[in-house]
Amino acid sequence: MKLTNGRYTLSGDVDLLQLSEKYGCPLYVYDAEIIKRQYEKMIKAFDVPNLKINYACKALNNISILKYMKSLGAGLDTVSIQEVQIGLRAGFAPDDIIFTPNCVSLEEIIAAKNLGVRINIDNLSILEEFGHMFPDYPVCVRINPHILAGGNTKISVGHIDSKFGISFHQVPLIMRIAKANKMRIEGVHMHTGSDILDAEVFLQGAEILFDIADHFPELKYLDFGSGFKVPYKDDGIQTDISDLGKKISKRFKTYCKSRDRELTLMFEPGKYLVSEAGYFLVKTNVVKQTTSTVFVGVDSGLNHLIRPMFYDAYHKIVNLSKTSGKERIYTVVGYICETDTFGVNRKMHEVHDGDVLAFYNAGAYCYTMASNYNSRYRPAEVLVVDGKDYLIRQRETMEDLMKNQIELEIF
Ligand SMILES: *Cc1c(COP(=O)(O)O)cnc(C)c1O
Repeated sequence: MKLTNGRYTLSGDVDLLQLSEKYGCPLYVYDAEIIKRQYEKMIKAFDVPNLKINYACKALNNISILKYMKSLGAGLDTVSIQEVQIGLRAGFAPDDIIFTPNCVSLEEIIAAKNLGVRINIDNLSILEEFGHMFPDYPVCVRINPHILAGGNTKISVGHIDSKFGISFHQVPLIMRIAKANKMRIEGVHMHTGSDILDAEVFLQGAEILFDIADHFPELKYLDFGSGFKVPYKDDGIQTDISDLGKKISKRFKTYCKSRDRELTLMFEPGKYLVSEAGYFLVKTNVVKQTTSTVFVGVDSGLNHLIRPMFYDAYHKIVNLSKTSGKERIYTVVGYICETDTFGVNRKMHEVHDGDVLAFYNAGAYCYTMASNYNSRYRPAEVLVVDGKDYLIRQRETMEDLMKNQIELEIF
């Protein structure tokens, strides 16, 4: 988003304030150009003969976004059978979808297998049961490398107490199960968490995966997961993808060469691809001065954007309606009947009732975590492509809220 002549615009000079007038608030807006920029940055960063980027669609799973990802050349990383189904509907080939669930039923994994997608198994008993039933269906195994990494405990998933993956100490058991059932292990995977800054974490994990890879001669790919951090604050702290890419690529190529193997290097970024592409636009309902604080109360809350409350996430906020003049300090809050604070002590150009504010980094884990709490409608979504805006999801209506409710006639 750019500020020129007092207007905030997206690529193709699309005016955000105008979008809020056209579609109403609250509104999610995504800039396709930024998704493309991020995807290309990743592709450029890794210099290996075979690279595959599978977009982790739980970050933002609107079908039009998935189709756009497909047009860029990405595959898909999914965590539920429903995400698999949406991916197939979006036109991804089963081969280009990997199913990486955790603690789902064997039935769900079988359903995914019946759709022909790649299966990533993160539990020994499931591996055994699956292998017993479908020895000919190649699988990937998710390894827990016991690395503590990530921005906070909710998103750090690769440490020793984590529920994710099969401990790398249990690799002999994986080998035994695979052998007993004549299974083919086609991939080895790890995903240590989100918001990892340090290339060393990936390199450490890589060494573990290389060691494991030696035991599986039928391997086709190594999947290093994700966790790339994007900047949320103006200080710009983020994963240095080109540095990481150089280091990993070098090590990956040496490994493949020393073993005379041709493996594909896979990643499955969610946040990295879509976080910065999204903006969330809300309207100011009230500016409320108390003895200590000036609150800006907006027409949204934790029902639409829960990251600040759930993860203590920082989302930058600006006033689209007023881009110059006096600045004041505000605490931005939602309209939900509990404390739902979006941001404390934020400096913005003077806010008045009716002003439209924009949240940054609203592409990843924002709409997908939205709910109907307080019987509010979920917002509309708009995708901006080549200077044009497209509605990609309608705002909900009362009909949507009542759709599955059964009104008893016995009272
Ligand atoms: C959530 C998830 C990702 C994506 O993580 P980001 O931090 O959004 O890049 C990748 N792989 C798996 C298995 C996940 O569960």
